[in-house]
Order: sequence, then structure tokens, then C-alpha cells
Amino acid sequence: MIRAIVICVILGGSLVAKAESLLIENVRIFDGVNATLKSAHVLVEDGIITRVSTENIDTTADMKIIDGANRVLSPGFIDLHAHLTMHVPPSQGDAHATVAGAVANDVARHFLDSGFTTVRDAGGTHPDLARAINSGTVYGPRVYPSGAILSQTAGHGDWRHATVPNPTLGGSNPYIYSDMAVIVDGVDQHLAAVRENLRFGATQIKIMGGGGVMSEYDPIDSLQPSPAEIRAAVQAASDFGTYVLAHAYTSEAVRRLVDNGVRCIEHGLLIDDATAKFVKKNDVVISTQLVVYRALKDLDGISATNLEKLELVLKGQENLIELIKKYDITTGFSTDLISGMYPMLTREFTERAMYWTAAEVLAQATSESARVIRMAGRLNRHGNFGEIREGWVADILLHNGNPLEDISVLRDPENNLALIMKAGKIVKNTIGQ
Ligand SMILES: [Zn+2]
Repeated sequence: MIRAIVICVILGGSLVAKAESLLIENVRIFDGVNATLKSAHVLVEDGIITRVSTENIDTTADMKIIDGANRVLSPGFIDLHAHLTMHVPPSQGDAHATVAGAVANDVARHFLDSGFTTVRDAGGTHPDLARAINSGTVYGPRVYPSGAILSQTAGHGDWRHATVPNPTLGGSNPYIYSDMAVIVDGVDQHLAAVRENLRFGATQIKIMGGGGVMSEYDPIDSLQPSPAEIRAAVQAASDFGTYVLAHAYTSEAVRRLVDNGVRCIEHGLLIDDATAKFVKKNDVVISTQLVVYRALKDLDGISATNLEKLELVLKGQENLIELIKKYDITTGFSTDLISGMYPMLTREFTERAMYWTAAEVLAQATSESARVIRMAGRLNRHGNFGEIREGWVADILLHNGNPLEDISVLRDPENNLALIMKAGKIVKNTIGQ
């Protein structure tokens, strides 16, 4: 009944538009959750999966039909930690925002063409660019933007050169590097910066919650920002119905963030067993990444300070993976690729498969990440996706090869993705009707 209302447009008393129906027949479905494939047929109407059936589905004259020919069908992939506009190489780091925007066009294309129908941008991308992608003006995945990252003075997002005056001490513009970060000190500035991001259309808020690798002046074990400032950011976000994700590595930083209301930790590589247990008890997510930490050392232009900090956090990576598995902590799938490293995107699949089964990695990249996306609550305006379920958004991939048996097929999306569908819209189809 609801469908009938949605799909019919009555103009002047006559029916002028009907449901756009697409039937994908003969597929083996990975539903985003279960490790076993189910042979079935999938009906998509107006962007929504309306039927998943092991029985044949009746066809109509105006229905488009695709023969899946026993291919594996999965939900579209999700990256919980992307930075679409942070791919200008370090040597051109001072370039105008238009350069970051131009490169972001390639980055967004690469994500969608690799099967990623959704990304949570973990900061730096203005919600206007997210809107342009979401509306189809720019080709790319659905974007959940975090807006400008909040960083305290001397925090992980304070990327000023030593000679640039501090904006919070009388400088004029707290936004730095193409508005990718905003320098904020004190409760009032945290409140204002979060509200400003939300005003532009951020769906969640990102703060730098401790020392980081790719910044010059903050030790990894530095605590950022104060408990009152964290609470202010969390309060302003939750007043809009959403949450804060925070960059952090150490146990002390993670505890402080969680104690003050942060719901999602980014990275977390140096936490200990007790902190992992604490994270699980508080139902907090640890969104961590594998490839970027292993590849950053080869990045052209990385500084000696950054390299030193990289080595420090990398030591904790395998321990963190064990803790995530031990306490069954929600982690999802994320990459954090920056500075032109985005072509490594699909390497994250095979790197993860060294620690998790292929089915677990695929679940991370679909249903588990989607659960994290939905933490945006009433700011999520794209419905439910990430699983092949009736009534859910039709983000669908058809694979050549079986990624559950050999996840490396995902490394070559150009040849192995036969079909990419985002919200019912086919953006790639090598099968034909
Ligand atoms: Zn990041």
C-alpha cells in the first residue's frame, strides 16, 4: 500500500508514472549478515528492495530483467572512515580548496566504481560537496559528512605552520586548510563549531581526541581536549540527535572520551585489555584501519616526526585486532586513506582477511558499518541499507567470482564487479539486460 502511494504520480486525474521495476534473477545472495549464500531472485522497485524470493517472481511487460547467471549478489560496501577531500599530496598541501575539490572528484569516482555505495567522511569534506554527490551532481558514493574536524590548539588537527598565528588568540579565521579543520579552545567554541557543522549538514561530528601521526606538534600520548570540551561537543551533537566520533590511540584518551559521551573511537591502536573491555561494556565502536598504517611509511613527503609516531602506533595494531575479536567490539570497515593513497582502497579487504574470515570482512563492510552509520539517528535521511532485505535501500553489487571463497576478487573491481547499483540506480552493468 505504501509502495503504491510512493510510486504513482497522479497528474490531472491520470496515471503518468509507474514504479521503475528491476528484477535480478538467478543470484546467490550474501545478505550482509549470514556466511552462507542463498539462491534467490531480487526485485527492486523505485530504489527499494521489495522482494527477495527463492520462488520465481512474476514479470511484467515494463519490468527490466537482469539474469545474474548464478553470480554472487551482495550489498554495496561502506567505508566508515574516508576523507574525500584530503588527497592533495603533501608537497601541494597549501593549494587552494579548488584543488582538493578537483581531486575529490576522482576519489569519489574511485570509491563508487570499487563497489562502495556509502562513505562516512571522517572530516574535512564540506557538507556541500556531500550534498552535490548525494544529489547526483557529482558522481560518487552516498556521503555522511562530518564537516570540519574539531581540534584544540596543538591538537592533532592543528596543522598550522609554526609562523601562522593562533586564531583563538586573536587570529581571524579558526578554519584551516580549506576548512578541513577548525581550531577550538574552550566549551563555548566547541559548542559553536559543532552547531556550525550541523547547520551546514554534518550528520555526525568528528573531534581530535588525542595525539595523532600526521601532525607535527602533538605527542601520541597527549590528551585532547578537556573533559568539559568533549562534553560540550557531545551535548551539541546529541541535541541534534547525533553522535561524536573521536580520533584517539591510547587507553587514557579512549577512557576520557567514552566517559564523556563519545560513541565511536577512530583508530584505537594502543589500547590495553581493560580498556577494550570497558569499550565493549559501554557499547562503543572502535573503527580501525589496517592498510593505511602499513603503507604510510612509503608516503612521499612524510616527516621524520610523523614516521616516528607511525612506528609507535603500528606496534599496537595486531594487539588491537585481537582485542576487537576477544570482546566482539563493533568495528565495521574503514580505511582512512589520505594524501593520494585512495587507489589502495580494496587492499583493505585482503589485509583484513589475514585476521578475519572473508564472510566476517564482508559483514564488516556491509551490515556492521551500516549499523554505525545509523547512529546518526534522525540525521540519517537515506533510510536503511547495508543488507539485502525487503524494504531496504537497493545498494547492490553483482560479483564475478565468489568473494566468500576468495576475497581477493574484490581487489579488481574493474573486472570483477559486473553490476553496481546505488539506491536502485545502476551505475555499472557489464551484463546487459
Ligand atoms: Zn582520518
